[in-house]
Amino acid sequence: MSLGKMLLKMLFPPRCPFCREILGEISWEKVDYPDWARKESASGVICSRCAVSLPWIVMGCPRCAAEQMGRVGCSCSVYDYAFDNCCAVGRYTGKVRKALHLFKYQQKQWLAEPLGRLLSWKLSSQDWAGTIEAVVPIPLTPHRQRRRGYNQAALLAGVVGRELGVPLLDILQRVRETESQAGLKREKRWENMRDAFRCRGETGRYGHLLLIDDILTTGATAHQAASVIKTGVAESVSVAVFAR
Ligand SMILES: [Zn+2]
Ligand SMILES: [Zn+2]
Repeated sequence: MSLGKMLLKMLFPPRCPFCREILGEISWEKVDYPDWARKESASGVICSRCAVSLPWIVMGCPRCAAEQMGRVGCSCSVYDYAFDNCCAVGRYTGKVRKALHLFKYQQKQWLAEPLGRLLSWKLSSQDWAGTIEAVVPIPLTPHRQRRRGYNQAALLAGVVGRELGVPLLDILQRVRETESQAGLKREKRWENMRDAFRCRGETGRYGHLLLIDDILTTGATAHQAASVIKTGVAESVSVAVFAR
């Protein structure tokens, strides 16, 4: 490690994205932790306490990433999603919900690094992830992008692309201002997202692209984005989100 990096680490020691505790070593024997997250660098990303108590998705539905919890079949089978696979790190509750809230609404852009790394590790455990050619962030509406100053999905996609060693493609555009999905009921969310996206001019042609967003709730947003990409840009589209 260079002197500069050492000094930075002393002044700004890495903190846990979920509780902001300064990070120490994780002792694996004591931690019940998903296999895919047992990386050497985990000690620099999440603290032991959060590693134990995070609402990890352990057995996600391969199509929509919802935690299966021993159920057979997933309720998503009634939707004809345009995306082919989906994976998510955790359930949208407790510490995960809190961290995403800070990331999205409280200008905590630094969270992109640890959350993006956890998401890439989860991806590397998926057998479909090996063929991904590029990552595509779900864009915000222009109004929201201006107000927030950054797109949290694009920040996550930057980290995931770097970790997977594939480029980031900013090919999606919001066609119109849509209401915030957060305040809408299930059926309204589908209505609200109809024709919400288009691809920018010269996109190129791909076999397999990965859409990135911070969260997937009904899947309406990812579905619309994937169906636009599938008309002429990519054969297959997968989705990776931090929370489900
Ligand atoms: Zn923590
Ligand atoms: Zn499902």
